[in-house]
Amino acid sequence: MVIVGAGFGGLTCARALKRAAVDVLLVDANNYHLFTPLLYQVASSLLDPSQIAQAVRSLIRPLKNCDFRLARVRGADFERKLLRTDAGDLAYDYLVLAAGSESNFFGNAEVEAHAIGLKELPDGLALRNWVLGCFEAAARASSDEERRRLLTFAVVGGGPTGVEYAGALQELTHLVLRKDYPRLDLSLARIVLIEGTGSLLGAFDPRLREAAARSLKRKDVEVWFDAMVATADQDGVALKDGRRLDARTVVWTAGVKASDLGAALGLPLSKGGRIRVDGLLNPAGHPEVFVIGDLAAYEQDGEPLPMLIPVAMQEARRVAATIADMVHNGGATAFRYRDPGIMATIGRNSAVAELGPVHLSGFLGWLMWLFVHLVNVVSFRSRIVVLVNWAWEYVLFDRPVRLIVRAGDDRRG
Ligand SMILES: Cc1cc2nc3c(=O)[nH]c(=O)nc-3n(C[C@H](O)[C@H](O)[C@H](O)COP(=O)(O)OP(=O)(O)OC[C@H]3O[C@@H](n4cnc5c(N)ncnc54)[C@H](O)[C@@H]3O)c2cc1C
Repeated sequence: MVIVGAGFGGLTCARALKRAAVDVLLVDANNYHLFTPLLYQVASSLLDPSQIAQAVRSLIRPLKNCDFRLARVRGADFERKLLRTDAGDLAYDYLVLAAGSESNFFGNAEVEAHAIGLKELPDGLALRNWVLGCFEAAARASSDEERRRLLTFAVVGGGPTGVEYAGALQELTHLVLRKDYPRLDLSLARIVLIEGTGSLLGAFDPRLREAAARSLKRKDVEVWFDAMVATADQDGVALKDGRRLDARTVVWTAGVKASDLGAALGLPLSKGGRIRVDGLLNPAGHPEVFVIGDLAAYEQDGEPLPMLIPVAMQEARRVAATIADMVHNGGATAFRYRDPGIMATIGRNSAVAELGPVHLSGFLGWLMWLFVHLVNVVSFRSRIVVLVNWAWEYVLFDRPVRLIVRAGDDRRG
């Protein structure tokens, strides 16, 4: 069988099939698994890529029935049970599609051209380079006007990624880079979080949303509510209500859509390009094909499940159990999601966490956030290094990864 995508869904599925009587081929366009919740910490100079991403081959080493293929899947011939990839065709008997999602610029070409997304590992690195490059440019700028533009950072989207990155960028600027640039007037620096609705963190309880907004305000992050971005250029963003923000940096965290693999496969899609699936996570008419994670539009109680890690992992375990049963001619059981809760951090000592009836904010929420993320980071080695980096930053107000390292094809900045 073949699993497309070695993210949270695909990797969990492969692991859950460890003892099943199947040979698993895990296919991914990248050779690593990415721990997305800490990507914003790569973008804000706290962690190195190797601390939040790990080679798939090392992760599947304990799985004797699993192999890996580095390839991008382009389409499929469902009749002949063949996957079309840029490294040749792959035959399957069972197929699990777990290709995740990508940034959604809603067809706005100017925004896509001028904003930096925060979705993939290269985005995190590009953003780190870009922001550090802006500080260098500001240090040699000849006017306050130019410095102000270089040190204004527009973060679009008040969901968890935007909130977490805005808080982290503010701390990077005022707690860390302040010491690197003693001659730079950092009162010119502004971080503006631009949110299209009237509140941040829409999925959270209203009291936690307000706590998050208060916490950002205390950290001097400006929050613009009811602010819809109309367009962007190299000098900033224009809003639909006529306002404009001059900012050399525009970070886009305002939308996610399913991987375009869904459309390439020709399966029925729902909102956001997600593949429609039934209660067993099969697309209509294909009992040997399963779709999980961000790519799957699974409706529970009339609502599509959100694009979250626990959804992808629970679906993956359900599908693995179904396939193991099918191999032994057993029956399948419908999937049902159990919500373990959601959380987001707003920088040091501050986070919001909603875990069933338990709602935490401030320092307690932050401790909970630290614990959950540390336990779930990719490997034991990463856990130790991440903990050391966090402790180092907490005590010394220092972030270790302040290198501007550009790969050959990264021309930004
Ligand atoms: C910055 C950020 C922070 C997040 N924080 C949280 C959080 O704190 N908590 C939470 O629950 N969720 C969080 N999420 C959402 C979470 O990452 C996703 O819901 C989860 O990763 C979905 O798992 P998946 O297996 O569907 O996709 P992914 O984990 O994204 O994996 C998809 C894999 O498929 C591969 N792929 C894609 N297309 C192809 C192709 N055509 N051929 C081959 N391979 C392909 C990709 O390379 C990738 O490895 C965050 C997301 C982002 C971007």
